[in-house]
Amino acid sequence: MNKFEALGLGDEILKAVNDMGFETPSEVQEKAIPILLNEDTDIVALAQTGTGKTAAFGFPLIEKIDSKSRITQGLILSPTRELCLQITNELKNYSKYVSGLHTVAIYGGASITDQAKQIKRGAQIIVATPGRMQDMINRKLVDISNIGYCVLDEADEMLNMGFYEDINAILSHTPKDKNTWLFSATMPKEVSTIAKRFMNTPVEITVGHKNTGSKNVSHEYYIVNSRDRYAALKRLADANPDIFSVIFCRTKRDTQKVAENLIGDGYNAAALHGDLSQNQRDLVMKSFRNRQIQMLVATDVAARGIDVDDVTHVINYQLPDEIETYTHRSGRTGRAGKSGVSMVIVSKSEVRKIKSVERIIKKSFEKKEIPSGEEICQVQLFHLASDIGKAEINHEIDTYLPSINEVLEEFSKEELIKKFFSVEFSRFHNYYKNARDLNASGGERGGDSDSGDGSTRYFINVGEKDGFDWMTLKDFLKEVLELGGDSLSRVDVKESFSFFNTSAEHQERVLSIFEDFKMEGRKVNVEISKGSGSGGRRGGGRRRRDNGGGGFKGKRRSDGFKPKGKRRFDKNDSKDSGGGLRRDRRKRSDRR
Ligand code: ADP
Ligand code: MG
Repeated sequence: MNKFEALGLGDEILKAVNDMGFETPSEVQEKAIPILLNEDTDIVALAQTGTGKTAAFGFPLIEKIDSKSRITQGLILSPTRELCLQITNELKNYSKYVSGLHTVAIYGGASITDQAKQIKRGAQIIVATPGRMQDMINRKLVDISNIGYCVLDEADEMLNMGFYEDINAILSHTPKDKNTWLFSATMPKEVSTIAKRFMNTPVEITVGHKNTGSKNVSHEYYIVNSRDRYAALKRLADANPDIFSVIFCRTKRDTQKVAENLIGDGYNAAALHGDLSQNQRDLVMKSFRNRQIQMLVATDVAARGIDVDDVTHVINYQLPDEIETYTHRSGRTGRAGKSGVSMVIVSKSEVRKIKSVERIIKKSFEKKEIPSGEEICQVQLFHLASDIGKAEINHEIDTYLPSINEVLEEFSKEELIKKFFSVEFSRFHNYYKNARDLNASGGERGGDSDSGDGSTRYFINVGEKDGFDWMTLKDFLKEVLELGGDSLSRVDVKESFSFFNTSAEHQERVLSIFEDFKMEGRKVNVEISKGSGSGGRRGGGRRRRDNGGGGFKGKRRSDGFKPKGKRRFDKNDSKDSGGGLRRDRRKRSDRR
């Protein structure tokens, strides 16, 4: 006897289970199905997303429905149109061998008359979103006065979305002696209120801990300076070439912005938020499902309906305000028995929030480092190698082979490999070779170019001996950098060198203008001035170019300034249009 049979399911469903390839029941299925099949009882079932709740209520519901009667007997309420359609599809799959059983989806944003027509033809099971359901009840287009079963799926989400009143009203049209089955990932107060108010001594089953994330999800956090959030996000993506992820932002604006930046930088990304039309959202979800989008940037509300298996990473671009929300976010990965990672990008001031999330979800986070450019290059290189190893050979190339052979004749296999990788990989490598360390870990971070007020302090190798005082140097910089006087501050002129500040946003511009700048034939050198305690940072080192300026060099040294330091800023990380990356990404994903 197979394990589903042992639960007491009938042949029609067992056959469908077999077709779907389910081998063993999930924990919530194992616990809920026998109870629901054998008892007429209310139930509260708490289990994470992705644990198979749909079948946990769907199988027994189908068993209990009389498919010979056309009366509506079961009502499933679910928070979003997406979920509503998903549940409907699942139920249709489960019941494909049950003749005469009709399941109809009712949700907003589609023709109400069409839906009413389908109901009229006979729907033993209705799957609905609360708003549209309420609407149809008011217009007398549905009759739920005889239902025997009401399922509240993702009850916590429905309450989060403010459907309490609708649920209340809908339930008032249902018989008192029906059974109510409540399924939820978390158990906030509001859900227990519903359970008390609408249910009759429900059986309670819990899979895992209440409010705990799925056990297949590991949790990681990364500490960066706030202004490096985006660069950090890209590193995380680049260090995981096969990433298939949902990225959560707090606001629609951030969501849109991050998605636009990613798209601009050549990633397969898209935004999902409430300002998009239903049609646009459907398109985005469609592309996400079939993997044309690797990085879906979403708001919490818009992501509620996302029920896509195989999401490898959830990235919290910002932490949510509510810890419950974190549980929902991380539940988008680690589904259907697969493992997943939930990553959180935090600034130092937010680290303590991680501790409170840990306490509530009863899981510990691992503090990880944003990968260095070198690590990313390595990962990408091996990924490329394994892609090549796995590639299917396209025999259309065969005809050109003789002439290609001719061109490459003189090279050994080893040389060819090196050359091939150089072509495919150099752009990536160039992009990251000088990447700086983005980790803002611990308290000993010292030496940041940030002067604490959001401005950057620079060293420049001209001073009094070149005829400058602070006013003339400021004028000179204003002109060369094309900046307003307000953007330049703290101009300090010493004998053979000087310092000045600009706001951090101009950093890239300042460094690039002075990248190759000559004054009266002499190279003018500008670099970010480092405070004390700059040791201990990884990577990112770039050798200073020789400034070639004869005696001038010695003088500066004698003033105690040590020019050996690394230039901390790396323009690649902020300019980031990095042609290399962009094209590499596109090419790779075009193959999918
Ligand atoms: P939940 O409602 O708890 O978030 P779902 O019911 O949507 O989870 O199920 C998540 C995925 O797992 C779906 O793709 C579903 O088809 C699959 N699934 C459900 N039960 C099983 C099972 N027993 N074996 C394998 N896959 C399953
Ligand atoms: Mg579900």
